[in-house]
Amino acid sequence: MEYKNMTENIITWNASGHPIVPDNPVISYIEGDGIGPDIWAAALPVFDAAVANVYAGKRRILWHEALAGEKALKAYGPDNLLPEKTVEDITRYGVAIKGPLSTPVGKGFRSLNVDLRQKLDLYACVRPVRYFPGVPAPVTHPERVNVIIFRENTEDLYAGVEWEAGSNAAKEVLELVNEKLKQDGRQGLSLESAVGIKPMSKFNSCRLVRRAIRYALENGYESVTLVHKGNIMKYTEGAFRDWGYGVARDEFSEQTVTEPELFENFDGNIPKGRVIIKDRIADAMFQQLLLRPEEYGVIATPNLNGDYLSDAAAAQVGGLGMAPGANIGDRCALFEATHGTAPKYAGLDKVNPGSLILSGVEMLRFIGWAEAGEIIVKALTRTIADGTVTYDLARQMERAREVKCSEFGAAIVENIRRLTA
Ligand code: NAP
Repeated sequence: MEYKNMTENIITWNASGHPIVPDNPVISYIEGDGIGPDIWAAALPVFDAAVANVYAGKRRILWHEALAGEKALKAYGPDNLLPEKTVEDITRYGVAIKGPLSTPVGKGFRSLNVDLRQKLDLYACVRPVRYFPGVPAPVTHPERVNVIIFRENTEDLYAGVEWEAGSNAAKEVLELVNEKLKQDGRQGLSLESAVGIKPMSKFNSCRLVRRAIRYALENGYESVTLVHKGNIMKYTEGAFRDWGYGVARDEFSEQTVTEPELFENFDGNIPKGRVIIKDRIADAMFQQLLLRPEEYGVIATPNLNGDYLSDAAAAQVGGLGMAPGANIGDRCALFEATHGTAPKYAGLDKVNPGSLILSGVEMLRFIGWAEAGEIIVKALTRTIADGTVTYDLARQMERAREVKCSEFGAAIVENIRRLTA
C-alpha cells in the first residue's frame, strides 16, 4: 500500500530529533531474509494487538512494506538488493522496523545493513539490555543488568578504510606515514603491514553523546557512562571522552553533574533532576558490567567498543536471541532484530521472534506509545514465566513447553488480551 498523499499520516520531526506522531502513522517494515518472514509473521499481530487494546481502537499503525534483500531481487531484478525506492520510502515515512538481511557472499558486496545505516544517516546504534525472568542466563544476578548502549554507528575502525598487507595502496599509505614519523623522530612502520584507518570526529561523537544524555534525562536514568580507550588512543578515543564531557558541560550544565563534581560539590548525593556523567576505560567496563552492573544505566561509546560491549551485555542476560536493537538518526529511525537470518531455520516456523518483538517495543517507546510497548513487555514476560517458549529457550529450561514461532507470538497476543481485559 502506498501512502504518499496521506500527509496527515506521516511522521514529522522537531528540531531536537523527536518524532511528531499522528494517531494512524505510516510505518515501514522490511520482512528480511531467511527466518525474517517467520518472525515478522509472529511479531506483527503482537504489535497490532498491543496498540488496538491499549488505545481502544483510537490508534493504529498503517504498515507499509519496503523491499530489501531477496524479496527486492525478485521484484526489481539483479543488483537491486536495496532499491532506491526503499531508501526513499523509509526516508519519507521516517520510522521503520526490519528483520535480518543476509549479506551476499563474494567480493564487492557491502552489508545491506551498513548501506541502510549510511544512506539514512542513522548515527546511533541503540541496544537496550535487560533481563526477562525465566530466561536462562549464565550469571547469578542477571536481573541487576538494565543498561542501554548508544554506539556510534558511522566511523571508527568500522568506516571500512583499510588496505591489504603487501598491496601497492598499503605501501603508499605506509610510506607517507613513515615520512611523518621520521619528522617526529619516531620509528617507521613495516611496509608489509596491512593498514586500517580509525577516523573519529567531534561532530559524530558529540551528536551520539547528546542523544545518549537526552535519553537518560527523558527516561529517568541516573548516569551516562562514556566508554573509551583514551588511555592508549589519546587523539581518537581520548577525544571522544573529552568531547562527550564537553557536550554535557556546554549543553546540559543544569541537568548533569560529572562524577568528580559529585563528590567535590555534592557529598556524593545526586542533585535532583540531574544525571551523572562518568567515564570508564573499555576493558575495565567489561569487568564492571559483570561485577557491578547496577551502577550503570546509559552507556555512550565509539563504534568498535560498542559492538563488543553490546553482545557481551546481551549474553549476560541470556543471549542474543532476545536482544532488541535500533539505528537512529535525527530524521529517521530503523528498529531491527539483532540476530542474523539463520538460514537453516528459514520457513520452519521454529525460531524465537523475541528480538524483533522487543525491537518493536523500542519503536513504540520511540514514537511516544510507551504504554503499548509496556503491555508487550508484560505479556512476553508472562509467556516466558509460564514456560511457553521457542526451542532455543526450551533446550535450556526445565519443564518448558516448546512452541513454534507463530504459537509464541499468539501466546503473547493472548496475554495482551488478558492483561487489558
Ligand atoms: P545468525 O543468523 O544470527 O544465526 C546463528 C545462530 O544463532 C543460529 O543458528 C541459531 O542458533 C541462533 N539464532 C539466530 N536467530 C535466532 C532466533 N531468532 N531464535 C533462536 N535462535 C536464533 O548468524 P549467522 O549464521 O552468522 O548469519 C547468517 C546470515 O545473517 C549472514 O548472511 C549474515 O550476514 C546475516 N546477518 C544479518 C544481520 C542483520 O541483518 N542485522 C545480523 C547478523 C548476521 P542454533 O543453531 O544454536 O539454534
